[in-house]
Order: sequence, then C-alpha cells, then structure tokens
Amino acid sequence: MRKGREQEEQIEEEGEKYEEQKSIRSHSYLFSGAPLYDRDPLKSIPSGRVTLLGDACHAMSPFKGQGANQAMMDAVSLMRSLKLRKNDSENEMRRVLQHFANEMLPRSAQKVLASRAGVAFYHTPQAIQKEALWNFMGLTSEEQQQRMRERVDAVVKAKGGSV
Ligand SMILES: Cc1cc2nc3c(=O)[nH]c(=O)nc-3n(C[C@H](O)[C@H](O)[C@H](O)COP(=O)(O)OP(=O)(O)OC[C@H]3O[C@@H](n4cnc5c(N)ncnc54)[C@H](O)[C@@H]3O)c2cc1C
Repeated sequence: MRKGREQEEQIEEEGEKYEEQKSIRSHSYLFSGAPLYDRDPLKSIPSGRVTLLGDACHAMSPFKGQGANQAMMDAVSLMRSLKLRKNDSENEMRRVLQHFANEMLPRSAQKVLASRAGVAFYHTPQAIQKEALWNFMGLTSEEQQQRMRERVDAVVKAKGGSV
C-alpha cells in the first residue's frame, strides 16, 4: 500500500518536472548565448584604405555600458577625419585614416580598461555599498552624486516607476 503511494508520488513528481522542462523548451526563443570578449587595447590598427571601428577594434566587457557608445563616437570621429581629406589619393586616405586612429585608439582604450575594472569591482560585496560605488564611479563631490541621483530618478520615472 505504502509502496503504491510512493510510486504515485514519484510519477507525479516526474510529471511536474516534465511539464517544467516542456515549458522551458517552449520558451527557448527567449534565451540566447553569445561570447563576451574583453581584448587588450590595440596600439595600432592596419593602415591603408581600410579601417576598423566599434567592437572590431575595441571589444570590451559591458560593465561600463560603453561598447556601442564608443562605436558611435568612432563613426563621428571617422566622418570628421574623412572631411579633412584634400584628395582621394592613397596617401591622403592613409593620412586621414591615421588621423582617425590617433583619436579613436586612446579614447576607446580608456573605456576598455575602465570596463575591465568594472568586471572586478561589480563582483565584490563593495559594489552594493554606496560610498564605495560613488568612489568607483569617480563621483566624489556631493554635486556629482546629486546629479547622478537626478539622472537615475529621471530614468526610473520615465519607465513608469517610483524612487
Ligand atoms: C550584454 C551586453 C550589454 C551591453 N550593454 C551596452 C550598453 O549598455 N551600452 C553600450 O554602449 N554598449 C553595450 N554593449 C556593447 C554593444 O552591444 C556593442 O559594443 C556594439 O553592439 C558594437 O557594435 P558594432 O557595430 O561594433 O558590432 P556588432 O554589433 O557586433 O555588429 C557587427 C555586425 O557585423 C555582422 N558580421 C560579422 N561578421 C560578418 C561578415 N563576415 N559579413 C557580414 N557581416 C558580418 C554581425 O552579424 C553584426 O551584425 C553591450 C553588449 C552586451 C553583450
């Protein structure tokens, strides 16, 4: 009698697990996986009539939210450099693309390294301590902290929440 009940419970349990797995599988379109790359900043990029921008030349972890921002700044910087060209000769193209690289490489390198520091910091218990977080973000004055609070409030309110 007892054995029969145990068997029933086991079947019930397996049935629940089956339903759970079926539900996860049917929602699998909600999941995706992709590698995250954090590359050392480059000192140079190939020179010539072709250049690189975005993740192709400064892949970073997303812990500063800067990857796409840097890619957009690259686009503006590249356009500004191209506007400086005096003719379409190969030498001139090399010159303006080098001009772009000279601005883009050090700017994005700072963000690659800051994002790397973010990976370490945001995985420590200090990350949820306000003082430590302010320090890490470089928001040391009351004025800077107040401005950040206002920005966070604005984002939360825009999303329909309250602070
Ligand atoms: C979880 C996560 C959170 C992030 N959060 C932020 C954030 O808050 N703020 C921020 O600024 N950034 C963020 N980023 C980073 C941001 O998504 C990337 O830095 C940005 O998308 C890079 O843009 P990209 O155009 O350089 O490269 P990609 O977006 O990778 O575009 C490259 C494109 O090229 C295509 N491609 C590749 N090979 C070929 C080929 N051989 N032929 C043709 N096409 C090809 C790819 O399919 C892709 O569409 C985040 C990234 C992740 C993973």
